[in-house]
Amino acid sequence: MQQDALWFVQALPLFFITAATTHLVVSFMQTIMHRMLGHHPIGGRLFRNHINFHHSYYSKDHLVSRKYRAEEGNNTPFFLIPVFLAGACIYFVLPTDLFVVAAVACTASFYAHVLFDREYHVAGSRLQRFAWFRHKQELHFVHHRHADSNFAVIHFFWDRILGTYRVSDHDRVKYRSKPRIPLARSIAWPKRNRTA
Ligand SMILES: [Zn+2]
Ligand SMILES: [Zn+2]
Repeated sequence: MQQDALWFVQALPLFFITAATTHLVVSFMQTIMHRMLGHHPIGGRLFRNHINFHHSYYSKDHLVSRKYRAEEGNNTPFFLIPVFLAGACIYFVLPTDLFVVAAVACTASFYAHVLFDREYHVAGSRLQRFAWFRHKQELHFVHHRHADSNFAVIHFFWDRILGTYRVSDHDRVKYRSKPRIPLARSIAWPKRNRTA
């Protein structure tokens, strides 16, 4: 019993790294698939669903409703396919304990992405009390107003890295930022991108 507890404590950092890495991979894949499939005709049905339902329901200044309305044309089940395929692959690569950690983290991350997108569009969401949530919600609304930007749902630093980040009007006023400054460019030419 004591040995099991000691093993668990020693393995905790590795479990944490595995869980964090899994979440980052899921959030990166969500950002990429949203951009490449949800907003490009190459996505076929995923593209039509996303544009005709989610972006039609929530557009311009109608960005929240009393309850989430995008059940019809929901793409979520399609995204489970690559998740299961990736899960099957890592099953043969990772030891069982790390695979279990990755599977749990992947499920939690997937659920978090679905939850955030739902809560962004619900009027009076219980998460509205948190400033960090309101900030992410505003960045997601920017995506609905400017569909070529902010493809992430939870971690918008992926958009900074991909060069598709666009600040919200609120932040533009607050920080007097330029609408878009890709992270790589702002690091390479900090002076050129300095805001007034
Ligand atoms: Zn979209
Ligand atoms: Zn949305």
